[in-house]
Amino acid sequence: MPELPEVHTTATGLQGVLPGLYIKDVWTDYDSAFHKGKNNIKDKTFFKTFRKKCVGKKILSANRRGKNVLIHLSGELTILVHMKMTGHLLYGVYKKTTVKKAGGKSAKSAEVWLAKHAGPLRDDPFNARVHFMIILSNGKHVALSDTRKFAKVTLLETKKLTESHDLRELGPEPTDKNFTLSVFKNRLLKKPNGRIKTVLMDQSLIAGIGNIYSDEILWKSDVHPESKPSQISDTLLKKMYTATRSLLAKGIDFGGDSMSDYRNVNGEKGRFQLKHKVYQRKDEKCLKRNCRGIISRKVIGGRSAHFCNTHQKLLQ
Ligand SMILES: [Zn+2]
Repeated sequence: MPELPEVHTTATGLQGVLPGLYIKDVWTDYDSAFHKGKNNIKDKTFFKTFRKKCVGKKILSANRRGKNVLIHLSGELTILVHMKMTGHLLYGVYKKTTVKKAGGKSAKSAEVWLAKHAGPLRDDPFNARVHFMIILSNGKHVALSDTRKFAKVTLLETKKLTESHDLRELGPEPTDKNFTLSVFKNRLLKKPNGRIKTVLMDQSLIAGIGNIYSDEILWKSDVHPESKPSQISDTLLKKMYTATRSLLAKGIDFGGDSMSDYRNVNGEKGRFQLKHKVYQRKDEKCLKRNCRGIISRKVIGGRSAHFCNTHQKLLQ
């Protein structure tokens, strides 16, 4: 799932190209009975309203809050996109074609968007699962490619964003200037008896950290993922704080992590996956200097944790 550095990379990419453009139209083939009545374009009725409100609006800016991409429009409206497991937003020139679905004579036809020009938008299969499209006034498009169709797209009033269901429970931004060591400590100690990996990933405590960066933060700061926050010394908490800030900054510098589906708005891979010290390195040698440990993998709080049993101390 895209985490803070990936969502940041996408939002920055959109901010570089979208302001000043108008929305000519929007399109989707998301349609899910599960989302009936919800404020999500996967509900057909909601999408009708969404379309009516978005068409003709000017795009003012794009940024993010936690793992949510926010596209601010004229008329005090904001499109919120949560890319979830496999979604990512792309920017390019697309054309719509109609293809026959498999199933013989009774087969229905389906609309499919394809990037017009050769390159990663057209040639990388991870960019080809387009389920939501913004058609822009400059002949270009913003496409949401989402293989597993878990992404969320909705429309909110800009002035009510912070109190919206999607954003109101998010913790502070760990890359902000005022996110100090004492803020970090206070947030983690709200769950004194939790397991530190799960606590780090709790969006209501700190926004933006997920599975990859939590593994890397804990490996770097010598803390076992099942440690209790209340038992972690001040020295180690300081180490964790420094690791959190530096690894998220590094993730942004390397254009995000593309070990899985994530691509930037041009459809290109980030490079943070080349820098992993622990994530997805099960059974490999620990890369910590002077450590002879082997990387383990264990499910903690429903997520795979990767860690070194030798240098990452269990504190409970
Ligand atoms: Zn180790």
